[in-house]
Amino acid sequence: MGYIYIIAVPLFISSLITGCLTFDGFAFWILLPAPSVFFGASIGRLCRMLNAPIPAVLSFLILLVCSLGVWMIEFFTLPQVYFFNHVWGAWPGPIYDEALQVSESLLFFRWITILWIILLWILPNWSETTQNKIVTFLALGCLLFSYLNLDEMGIITPRETLKEELSAHYQTTNFDLYFEENNFTDQEMEYWALRHEFHFQQIIDILEIDWPEGRKIESYIYANSWQKKKLVGAKFTSYVPIWLAQDQLHIAKQHLDGVLKHELVHVISKQFGNSLFNGSWSIGMIEGIAEAIAKDASPESTLDQIISAESSYPSPQQMKNALSNSGFYSSASSISYTTAGSFVQFLLNNYPVEYFKKAYPANNFESSYPVSFEELVDGWHQHLNTVEIDSVDKQISEFIFSRRSLFQKHCPHAFTEEQQLWDEYNFHVSNQDTAKALETIEQLYELNPGNKLIKRDWLREQLLHRNYATALYAFDASDTLLSLRILNADALFLHGDISSAQKLLLELKPQIDSSDARNFKYSYELRSDSLNWDAFLTARYKNKIPLANDMVRLNTPVKMMTTAKAIELGITNYYLPTATSFISKEPLNADWFDIYEEMILRLVLNESIGDADLMISSIDKLPLRARYSERLTELKEWRNFVYSRITAN
Ligand SMILES: [Zn+2]
Repeated sequence: MGYIYIIAVPLFISSLITGCLTFDGFAFWILLPAPSVFFGASIGRLCRMLNAPIPAVLSFLILLVCSLGVWMIEFFTLPQVYFFNHVWGAWPGPIYDEALQVSESLLFFRWITILWIILLWILPNWSETTQNKIVTFLALGCLLFSYLNLDEMGIITPRETLKEELSAHYQTTNFDLYFEENNFTDQEMEYWALRHEFHFQQIIDILEIDWPEGRKIESYIYANSWQKKKLVGAKFTSYVPIWLAQDQLHIAKQHLDGVLKHELVHVISKQFGNSLFNGSWSIGMIEGIAEAIAKDASPESTLDQIISAESSYPSPQQMKNALSNSGFYSSASSISYTTAGSFVQFLLNNYPVEYFKKAYPANNFESSYPVSFEELVDGWHQHLNTVEIDSVDKQISEFIFSRRSLFQKHCPHAFTEEQQLWDEYNFHVSNQDTAKALETIEQLYELNPGNKLIKRDWLREQLLHRNYATALYAFDASDTLLSLRILNADALFLHGDISSAQKLLLELKPQIDSSDARNFKYSYELRSDSLNWDAFLTARYKNKIPLANDMVRLNTPVKMMTTAKAIELGITNYYLPTATSFISKEPLNADWFDIYEEMILRLVLNESIGDADLMISSIDKLPLRARYSERLTELKEWRNFVYSRITAN
């Protein structure tokens, strides 16, 4: 045991020097290696005491079974992505989640390790004294009790446990959805069930899949990332355990919109994956096909535009690396995702999908395509040369390609008190627990009043809780950020001091006009007179929207913001058709594309097909970015999908 710590001492000192050693980090040093070493020692001792032949080899084999064998069984039967092991300790979940914390589960698991150590230690002479007998039976009893509670204590998460925790069940033709009832309205659930079926149909059409009759996909929808972390070990990462026989998705509610289609491609491509884990040996291929079909690396730029905006394209050799296992993790993941996505999209658009499905399991292009890999990459380059790009694509490309790899970050796993509170704050916000959100942001603000980002959220919480005087009192000369100054004007307005609010806004107008940040583009118009300003703030801070018929008096930006709020609040049945009729009378503007998209999605869901068609045809007439055209095409597919179901019934 000493050896492990001696080897580890330099690491320990370096983390101390760089300031990376947290309390959790320190606890890990105690909880992870020590019990493991004692566990190994007690097995070795048992083998010697029992006079087993070649005890060293035997102990080695037992340890191998305990470390690798037990883990493999868990890995191939359980849907979770965290693991505990007596030999190697713990694997907390995907590295993208970054924060490592000592959990009750880890303590409980180490308690089981200690029970095993006691039992193994005493077993050779368990019957010698009464004391030994008592300890043996106690240890056995405790072990039995502990093993019966593995799922409750978060050591394992079988699918049955997930179905108990996410107890509401919604069935569709191809899916079993599990979710928490009080987390979804009926309408929301219906919407998401339909979106599952919609994307399913899109994907099997593109991939020409003959879906097996009666095969059902289980979709586990978590209330939020924190519940997902607790139950299956992955927090912000949505995932699909393709290696399991049962098809399944694991996504937190707030991520559904962004990742459902991507993750569903993973489920469906199991159909042509390899026989060992239903995937491809190349993670680049697995992610490439998902990106190519979902197309959503960016809401503003197409995959091809992102790659095209780069100064040079990846060479055939680099592509070979990107599509091999080792090449994937060494660079920031977004590089390989997007690059592979653009390449796979080229393959799907220019060659039969059969070729791709044949190449997929073993990354075997040479025997699947009629041309060489170099020629494929060359054809892709030629295609990229024809792609038109603008300054927005360049910015997005730069942003995606400059994202730092996890391995380059300083202290990737440390979690400061501030980050902890920030995490807690976001948890309460996502839970819509406004009282606790306020309480947490108060603590955070007290801890760090100089951080303007914290201050901005603190101010927003004050306005949401109608503590206008408190908010106004907090502004000082150091708040020069435009967003804070606009908040100041809003606070004055909400407090009833309209003339001061308007005076401040006029003062800010030159700064708003000259800003090229997109989120300030309509800041002035939203507040251009007291009628619009009032409607906008009432929607934002009081969650109240104007009567649908009163919308006619509002300007376009406020109309769009209140409509977005109505969708967020789930007030759509009557409101959206009326909003549509007002909005479609004015010239449309691609700046509002996100909100138009939401409107069409919900109009179709509510079977207001005529209104949806009106919006679609008006948007069709606008000059659109290439990516918006892709998104509009998808909206048309959604409209046709839902419409064909309505007419079929
Ligand atoms: Zn993926």
